[in-house]
Amino acid sequence: MKDKPKKLCKLMKKDIEKEEFQEYIKLIKDATHVCKKCGRASNNEKGLCSPKKIQ
Ligand SMILES: [Zn+2]
Repeated sequence: MKDKPKKLCKLMKKDIEKEEFQEYIKLIKDATHVCKKCGRASNNEKGLCSPKKIQ
């Protein structure tokens, strides 16, 4: 499962382990998109299941 690209929305659905928390911070830093479905924000729209640009 380690090779799979990190999906923020999916990441949030399970408990974030400490090592993944750093990954999570990278994804939400300077967020450019928000997920219309989950309300998560991310700088990588590919990590969101229903991305919408914030600006
Ligand atoms: Zn989502």
